[in-house]
Amino acid sequence: MTTPSRPTILVTGGAGFIGSHTAHQLRARGYPVVVFDRLSNASCPAGLVEPFVRADLSDANALDAAITDHQVQAVIHFAASIEVGESVRDPLSYYQNNVAGSLALLAAMQRHGLCHLVFSSTAAVYGNTSVPLIPENAPLAPTSPYGQSKATVERILADQTAAAGLNATALRYFNAAGAAPEWALGERHQPETHLIPLVIQAARGQRDHIAVFGQDYPTPDGTCIRDYIHVKDLAEAHILALEALLEGRHDGYRALNLGTGQGASVRQVIDAVRSEALHRGDRDFPVKDEARRPGDPARLVADASAALVELGWRPRYSDLASIVSDAYRFFAEAPDKAPNKA
Ligand code: UDP
Repeated sequence: MTTPSRPTILVTGGAGFIGSHTAHQLRARGYPVVVFDRLSNASCPAGLVEPFVRADLSDANALDAAITDHQVQAVIHFAASIEVGESVRDPLSYYQNNVAGSLALLAAMQRHGLCHLVFSSTAAVYGNTSVPLIPENAPLAPTSPYGQSKATVERILADQTAAAGLNATALRYFNAAGAAPEWALGERHQPETHLIPLVIQAARGQRDHIAVFGQDYPTPDGTCIRDYIHVKDLAEAHILALEALLEGRHDGYRALNLGTGQGASVRQVIDAVRSEALHRGDRDFPVKDEARRPGDPARLVADASAALVELGWRPRYSDLASIVSDAYRFFAEAPDKAPNKA
């Protein structure tokens, strides 16, 4: 008996951090994957395999050809600009890449009769909030053009599902972290701004110290609390969301949080990295208290119960020690790999 063949999935932004892990996991499950990515860092990241289309979403011909040539049946859409600070300095490029890019993709999907989409959204759509666990129905109040661009695309998806028979699931990630060193995949941004890679760089002697931005937040140790989620758990959630659409269990539009429901403070993250570093024989490193980083909410932790109920998704790799250990191993084993863009 032959196994029925799986539908081909277009993964936009499939050379980026979460996209590359998801593409890998899709292939491991037997899905043919076409990566569509403009490689804005102009280098070829690790783990990128054919078929691969290097193009921007504004290139309608490239989108049409990718969909037709590979008989694409569903889309997971990661391609976007992702730096909050950069989005404040250059909002037009964020609305161009994230909103206009998504519009171009949706138009191509409509031209080709494609009606299944998983969209990479973010907890940044919520903005500042004081609730201990943020549910999906919390008010959307993004504080940056980046967050607003993702919230705007979500709104477009809701409208398009109502109008045109699209079925779309937006996944709102909290703090994506970790790596899959066994696949040579991990997080690498240029410049690096994320806490876990920065602390690892300090432990590996690539930075003189790690700064703690703000020590007087209303949290138990005075530093900000975030909900760190392992990239392999994120990839798994995308596949579950895709399968719910393909199998007709989900239709219309929905948004789901992806987090653990557990927060870790900046100091807890630093302690976890220090413990991994010392275990590996690397150095302890100086920690310096610095001023708050503008725009940082004190606490952002997901109510992730809906993803469990609707997708059966339960994080498996996201305890802080595992996240740090995988990220550390990736940096130790693949120090010279090119950056991911997302
Ligand atoms: N952070 C820090 N020092 C750094 C980088 C980040 O104290 O060098 C803090 C930052 O203020 C935030 C947390 O670490 O409270 C997580 O920041 P990150 O940039 O990794 O993710 P974000 O939550 O901003 O998406």
